[in-house]
Amino acid sequence: MVLDEEFYVNITEHMQNLREEILRRNPAEPEFHQAVQEVLDSLAPVIARHPAYARAKLMERISEPERQIIFRVPWVDDAGEVHVNRGFRVEFSSALGPYKGGLRFHPSVNLSIVKFLGFEQVFKNALTGLPIGGAKGGADFDPKGRSDNEIMRFCQSFMTELYRHIGEYTDVPAGDTGVGLREIGYLFGQYKRITNRYETGALTGKGLAWGGARVRTEATGYGAAYFVAEMLAARGDGLEGREVIVSGSGNVAIYAIQKAQALGGRVVACSDSGGYVFDRDGIDLNLLRTIKEVERGRLSEYAERGASGASYVAGRPVWEVPCQVALPCATQNELDGDAARRLVKLGVVAVAEGANMPCTPEAVRVFREANVLFGPGKAANAGGVATSALEMQQNASRDSWTFEYTEERLHRIMRDIHATCFETAAEYGRPGDYVLGANIAGYSRVAEAMLACGVI
Ligand code: GLU
Repeated sequence: MVLDEEFYVNITEHMQNLREEILRRNPAEPEFHQAVQEVLDSLAPVIARHPAYARAKLMERISEPERQIIFRVPWVDDAGEVHVNRGFRVEFSSALGPYKGGLRFHPSVNLSIVKFLGFEQVFKNALTGLPIGGAKGGADFDPKGRSDNEIMRFCQSFMTELYRHIGEYTDVPAGDTGVGLREIGYLFGQYKRITNRYETGALTGKGLAWGGARVRTEATGYGAAYFVAEMLAARGDGLEGREVIVSGSGNVAIYAIQKAQALGGRVVACSDSGGYVFDRDGIDLNLLRTIKEVERGRLSEYAERGASGASYVAGRPVWEVPCQVALPCATQNELDGDAARRLVKLGVVAVAEGANMPCTPEAVRVFREANVLFGPGKAANAGGVATSALEMQQNASRDSWTFEYTEERLHRIMRDIHATCFETAAEYGRPGDYVLGANIAGYSRVAEAMLACGVI
């Protein structure tokens, strides 16, 4: 199809109007605006090819959640004091399957954060090629310093409202920041008790003894490492011998480090909210796991107990450590334009987002202009939710796969996501632009399903 200039002008105007309308209808939601803007910036060429998408108002519909639930979560702490938190579940899109996405427990959680995460999830889940829609939820609850019993009571109160909205065929939550195996256990227990159903498919990230899947714990981090390896391979390069830095030291970071090391990378730094550890001998994964997973301790302890090559740098961002590969695995907007410029100067060649939207728009621009390989979160960290979908498959068939088989499935999914983004970017005349490739490929899958299902 040959596109005339007038048509492009119309599309540009259409996207501009759309952007303004979304900003107007969702005031004071900066993270949501940022996530929408990034997708809108990629879509003009696909809408030019498919004017039916614009006529059906697909983007207007996708950017409006199908359902938003906000609820009170009251609970009593160990001292007998009553607390009230705010719970959220934003069910964004069921075009491709039941709503699917994690729950985040963190004091920063608000509607803007949940909506940006839910919006991203729609495209991420579409990219996996698996039958899952998009959602996100959570609460402005701070688990830090809370006892096990307090966590349990909070989860039970949260589920006492959430249960009526979720289910195997409706909406399937999982973990995110602050929600891991322990919390999923308390949530699942309360769901089971209220509904009187052993419905394993209603939540993912479960323990192996009660319907969980192997590799789910490792999947997001493994997937991010696989993705960066694929990007490098597409340039005839690899992780072998490369210096890698990872931000964060939670679930995503730990398993990104493990897989990056297994693929030959030398991971020399990781971080937490207080600073970073630099270990010139390479991060000791066993020590890191003991401190973070077993003891739920602080990263600063790593240098105190680690080998002589390690030091803890308090109050500084990890992005000042020289590396060729950077994996931001902590949280949104943790890597800004200045950090990106510094990384480019230090010689970074590839960046893959293990977290959701960790790079600011300016940082992404800097990487693109410097020709740094950049894997956006909705592609690079899709391994977690993809393995959740594999957990749903196992639950539906009451089956349990081996670690090797599940990991091979995850690896194949990540290779396919990479190939889809790579080929889509090339098809639309922007080879190597994974942001454009991911947005267009994810959007196209959702768009086709929406068109087929009519105006709903
Ligand atoms: N919270 C993860 C994500 O951002 C996983 C969601 C899931 O497994 O449903 O994709």
